[in-house]
Amino acid sequence: CGIIACIGTDDAVGELVTGLENLEYRGYDSAGIAVQNGSGLAVRKRAGKISELKDHIASDVGDGSVGIGHTRWSTHGPPTDANAHPHVSQSGGIAVVHNGIIDNYEQLRRTLQEEGYVFTSDTDSEVVPHLIEYHVDQGADIETAFARTVEELEGSYALVVLVEGSETVYATRQDSPLVLGVGDAGYYLASDVPAFLEFTDEVVYLEDGDVAVVSPTGADIRDHTGTTVSRDSERIEWSA
Ligand code: GLU
Repeated sequence: CGIIACIGTDDAVGELVTGLENLEYRGYDSAGIAVQNGSGLAVRKRAGKISELKDHIASDVGDGSVGIGHTRWSTHGPPTDANAHPHVSQSGGIAVVHNGIIDNYEQLRRTLQEEGYVFTSDTDSEVVPHLIEYHVDQGADIETAFARTVEELEGSYALVVLVEGSETVYATRQDSPLVLGVGDAGYYLASDVPAFLEFTDEVVYLEDGDVAVVSPTGADIRDHTGTTVSRDSERIEWSA
Protein backbone atom coordinates (compact mmCIF):
# COMPACT_ATOMS: atom_id res chain seq x y z
CA CYS A 1 0.00 0.00 0.00
CA GLY A 2 2.82 2.42 0.87
CA ILE A 3 6.52 2.59 -0.02
CA ILE A 4 9.34 4.66 1.43
CA ALA A 5 13.04 4.37 0.61
CA CYS A 6 16.00 6.51 1.56
CA ILE A 7 19.30 6.50 -0.26
CA GLY A 8 22.20 8.38 1.33
CA THR A 9 21.38 9.42 4.90
CA ASP A 10 22.96 9.10 8.33
CA ASP A 11 19.85 7.54 9.79
CA ALA A 12 18.09 5.14 7.44
CA VAL A 13 16.17 3.35 10.20
CA GLY A 14 14.84 6.58 11.72
CA GLU A 15 13.86 8.06 8.37
CA LEU A 16 12.15 4.85 7.23
CA VAL A 17 10.09 4.67 10.41
CA THR A 18 9.10 8.34 10.02
CA GLY A 19 8.19 7.64 6.40
CA LEU A 20 6.07 4.64 7.36
CA GLU A 21 4.25 6.67 10.01
CA ASN A 22 3.62 9.37 7.41
CA LEU A 23 2.01 6.70 5.19
CA GLU A 24 -0.29 5.34 7.91
CA TYR A 25 -3.20 7.46 6.66
CA ARG A 26 -3.42 5.22 3.58
CA GLY A 27 -4.38 2.24 5.76
CA TYR A 28 -2.32 -0.95 6.18
CA ASP A 29 -2.21 -4.28 7.97
CA SER A 30 1.56 -4.92 8.18
CA ALA A 31 4.83 -3.04 7.91
CA GLY A 32 8.51 -3.72 7.40
CA ILE A 33 11.94 -2.37 6.53
CA ALA A 34 15.24 -3.57 5.07
CA VAL A 35 18.43 -1.65 5.79
CA GLN A 36 21.92 -1.96 4.42
CA ASN A 37 24.09 -1.95 7.54
CA GLY A 38 27.69 -2.95 8.21
CA SER A 39 26.99 -6.67 8.11
CA GLY A 40 24.56 -6.96 5.18
CA LEU A 41 20.83 -6.58 4.71
CA ALA A 42 18.81 -6.44 7.93
CA VAL A 43 15.11 -7.18 7.34
CA ARG A 44 12.47 -6.58 10.04
CA LYS A 45 8.75 -6.99 9.34
CA ARG A 46 5.56 -7.51 11.28
CA ALA A 47 1.84 -7.89 10.83
CA GLY A 48 0.08 -5.18 12.81
CA LYS A 49 0.87 -1.61 13.70
CA ILE A 50 4.08 0.31 13.06
CA SER A 51 4.50 0.59 16.83
CA GLU A 52 4.88 -3.20 16.89
CA LEU A 53 7.44 -3.05 14.11
CA LYS A 54 9.38 -0.43 16.09
CA ASP A 55 9.57 -2.78 19.10
CA HIS A 56 10.88 -5.45 16.76
CA ILE A 57 13.54 -3.24 15.16
CA ALA A 58 15.32 -2.67 18.49
CA SER A 59 18.96 -1.71 18.53
CA ASP A 60 20.47 -4.71 16.79
CA VAL A 61 19.53 -3.46 13.33
CA GLY A 62 22.32 -0.91 13.46
CA ASP A 63 22.42 2.18 11.39
CA GLY A 64 22.65 2.33 7.67
CA SER A 65 22.63 4.85 4.88
CA VAL A 66 20.30 3.01 2.49
CA GLY A 67 16.98 1.31 3.19
CA ILE A 68 13.48 0.47 1.98
CA GLY A 69 10.19 0.32 3.88
CA HIS A 70 6.63 -0.80 3.22
CA THR A 71 3.14 -0.67 4.62
CA ARG A 72 1.07 -3.57 3.31
CA TRP A 73 -2.59 -3.76 2.46
CA SER A 74 -2.94 -7.47 1.71
CA THR A 75 -4.28 -8.60 -1.61
CA HIS A 76 -2.69 -12.07 -1.85
CA GLY A 77 -2.17 -13.94 1.39
CA PRO A 78 -3.37 -12.99 4.89
CA PRO A 79 -1.67 -10.33 7.04
CA THR A 80 1.08 -12.38 8.69
CA ASP A 81 4.72 -11.64 9.53
CA ALA A 82 5.85 -13.89 6.66
CA ASN A 83 3.62 -12.12 4.14
CA ALA A 84 4.76 -8.64 5.20
CA HIS A 85 7.26 -6.86 2.95
CA PRO A 86 10.19 -6.56 2.24
CA HIS A 87 10.44 -9.96 0.55
CA VAL A 88 13.89 -11.38 -0.01
CA SER A 89 15.49 -13.68 -2.56
CA GLN A 90 16.66 -17.14 -1.60
CA SER A 91 20.24 -15.98 -0.92
CA GLY A 92 18.88 -13.15 1.20
CA GLY A 93 20.85 -10.70 -0.92
CA ILE A 94 17.95 -9.00 -2.73
CA ALA A 95 15.11 -7.29 -0.85
CA VAL A 96 11.98 -5.93 -2.55
CA VAL A 97 8.97 -3.85 -1.56
CA HIS A 98 5.92 -3.89 -3.84
CA ASN A 99 2.68 -1.99 -4.09
CA GLY A 100 0.00 -3.37 -6.38
CA ILE A 101 -0.74 -6.78 -7.84
CA ILE A 102 1.40 -9.06 -10.05
CA ASP A 103 -1.30 -10.67 -12.22
CA ASN A 104 0.91 -13.45 -13.61
CA TYR A 105 2.53 -14.42 -10.30
CA GLU A 106 1.15 -17.98 -10.26
CA GLN A 107 2.80 -18.91 -13.52
CA LEU A 108 6.07 -17.14 -12.55
CA ARG A 109 6.10 -18.85 -9.16
CA ARG A 110 5.56 -22.27 -10.71
CA THR A 111 8.42 -21.76 -13.15
CA LEU A 112 10.75 -20.52 -10.41
CA GLN A 113 9.80 -23.39 -8.10
CA GLU A 114 10.62 -25.84 -10.89
CA GLU A 115 14.04 -24.16 -11.05
CA GLY A 116 14.47 -24.82 -7.32
CA TYR A 117 13.61 -21.45 -5.80
CA VAL A 118 11.84 -21.87 -2.47
CA PHE A 119 9.01 -19.50 -1.53
CA THR A 120 8.28 -18.53 2.06
CA SER A 121 5.11 -16.43 1.68
CA ASP A 122 1.66 -16.55 0.07
CA THR A 123 2.08 -13.21 -1.69
CA ASP A 124 2.18 -12.36 -5.37
CA SER A 125 5.08 -9.99 -4.55
CA GLU A 126 7.59 -12.68 -3.57
CA VAL A 127 8.11 -13.70 -7.20
CA VAL A 128 9.96 -10.42 -7.78
CA PRO A 129 13.10 -10.98 -5.64
CA HIS A 130 13.32 -14.61 -6.79
CA LEU A 131 13.00 -13.63 -10.44
CA ILE A 132 15.73 -10.98 -10.10
CA GLU A 133 17.98 -13.55 -8.41
CA TYR A 134 17.17 -16.11 -11.10
CA HIS A 135 18.47 -13.72 -13.76
CA VAL A 136 21.57 -12.94 -11.66
CA ASP A 137 22.15 -16.68 -11.26
CA GLN A 138 21.92 -16.94 -15.06
CA GLY A 139 24.81 -14.48 -15.32
CA ALA A 140 23.11 -11.10 -15.66
CA ASP A 141 24.35 -8.09 -13.71
CA ILE A 142 21.83 -6.73 -11.25
CA GLU A 143 20.65 -3.92 -13.48
CA THR A 144 20.01 -6.25 -16.41
CA ALA A 145 18.38 -8.77 -14.07
CA PHE A 146 15.99 -6.08 -12.85
CA ALA A 147 15.16 -4.94 -16.39
CA ARG A 148 14.43 -8.54 -17.49
CA THR A 149 12.27 -9.10 -14.43
CA VAL A 150 10.22 -5.98 -15.11
CA GLU A 151 9.68 -7.12 -18.71
CA GLU A 152 8.19 -10.39 -17.43
CA LEU A 153 5.79 -8.85 -14.93
CA GLU A 154 2.13 -8.26 -15.73
CA GLY A 155 -0.12 -6.21 -13.51
CA SER A 156 0.23 -3.05 -11.47
CA TYR A 157 3.30 -2.30 -9.44
CA ALA A 158 5.56 0.16 -7.77
CA LEU A 159 8.77 -1.69 -6.89
CA VAL A 160 11.92 -0.74 -5.00
CA VAL A 161 14.86 -3.15 -4.83
CA LEU A 162 17.76 -3.13 -2.34
CA VAL A 163 20.83 -5.27 -3.01
CA GLU A 164 23.26 -6.53 -0.38
CA GLY A 165 26.62 -4.76 -0.44
CA SER A 166 25.38 -1.93 -2.66
CA GLU A 167 24.18 1.59 -1.98
CA THR A 168 22.30 1.70 -5.28
CA VAL A 169 18.54 1.13 -5.28
CA TYR A 170 16.46 0.14 -8.35
CA ALA A 171 12.85 1.19 -8.78
CA THR A 172 10.06 1.14 -11.32
CA ARG A 173 6.34 1.71 -11.61
CA GLN A 174 3.38 0.64 -13.72
CA ASP A 175 -0.15 1.82 -12.87
CA SER A 176 0.90 2.44 -9.28
CA PRO A 177 2.34 5.73 -7.99
CA LEU A 178 6.04 6.32 -7.24
CA VAL A 179 7.81 9.62 -6.68
CA LEU A 180 11.48 10.52 -6.28
CA GLY A 181 12.47 13.04 -3.62
CA VAL A 182 15.70 14.99 -4.11
CA GLY A 183 17.30 15.89 -0.78
CA ASP A 184 20.48 17.69 0.22
CA ALA A 185 22.31 14.55 1.26
CA GLY A 186 20.59 11.94 -0.88
CA TYR A 187 17.34 10.73 -2.37
CA TYR A 188 13.98 9.31 -1.37
CA LEU A 189 11.46 7.13 -3.16
CA ALA A 190 7.86 6.89 -2.04
CA SER A 191 4.37 6.09 -3.17
CA ASP A 192 3.31 9.56 -2.05
CA VAL A 193 5.01 12.90 -1.32
CA PRO A 194 3.94 13.21 2.35
CA ALA A 195 6.09 10.16 3.13
CA PHE A 196 9.30 12.20 2.92
CA LEU A 197 8.15 15.81 3.23
CA GLU A 198 10.15 16.36 6.45
CA PHE A 199 13.28 15.59 4.49
CA THR A 200 12.75 17.32 1.15
CA ASP A 201 10.12 19.20 -0.86
CA GLU A 202 11.82 18.71 -4.23
CA VAL A 203 10.01 16.00 -6.15
CA VAL A 204 10.23 14.17 -9.48
CA TYR A 205 7.08 12.33 -10.56
CA LEU A 206 8.06 9.07 -12.22
CA GLU A 207 6.01 7.86 -15.16
CA ASP A 208 4.75 4.39 -16.01
CA GLY A 209 7.60 2.28 -17.35
CA ASP A 210 10.36 4.47 -15.87
CA VAL A 211 13.26 2.67 -14.23
CA ALA A 212 15.15 4.72 -11.64
CA VAL A 213 18.68 3.78 -10.63
CA VAL A 214 19.34 5.77 -7.48
CA SER A 215 22.55 6.04 -5.47
CA PRO A 216 23.55 8.56 -2.78
CA THR A 217 25.31 10.63 -5.45
CA GLY A 218 22.87 10.51 -8.36
CA ALA A 219 19.55 9.37 -9.80
CA ASP A 220 19.33 8.12 -13.36
CA ILE A 221 15.87 7.65 -14.86
CA ARG A 222 15.45 5.47 -17.94
CA ASP A 223 12.55 4.44 -20.11
CA HIS A 224 11.70 0.83 -20.94
CA THR A 225 14.31 0.81 -23.74
CA GLY A 226 17.08 1.76 -21.29
CA THR A 227 17.45 5.29 -22.68
CA THR A 228 18.00 7.95 -20.04
CA VAL A 229 15.09 10.39 -19.90
CA SER A 230 14.92 13.77 -18.23
CA ARG A 231 12.11 14.38 -15.80
CA ASP A 232 11.70 17.85 -14.31
CA SER A 233 11.66 18.24 -10.57
CA GLU A 234 9.24 20.55 -8.82
CA ARG A 235 8.99 22.15 -5.38
CA ILE A 236 5.92 21.14 -3.44
CA GLU A 237 4.00 23.96 -1.80
CA TRP A 238 2.56 22.25 1.22
CA SER A 239 -0.12 24.11 3.11
CA ALA A 240 -1.04 22.75 6.51
N1 GLU B 1 -0.13 -7.58 -3.54
C1 GLU B 1 0.85 -7.37 -2.51
C2 GLU B 1 0.53 -8.16 -1.26
O1 GLU B 1 -0.57 -8.61 -1.07
C3 GLU B 1 1.07 -5.88 -2.18
C4 GLU B 1 -0.12 -5.21 -1.55
C5 GLU B 1 0.13 -3.74 -1.26
O2 GLU B 1 0.12 -2.95 -2.23
O3 GLU B 1 0.32 -3.38 -0.09
O4 GLU B 1 1.38 -8.35 -0.45
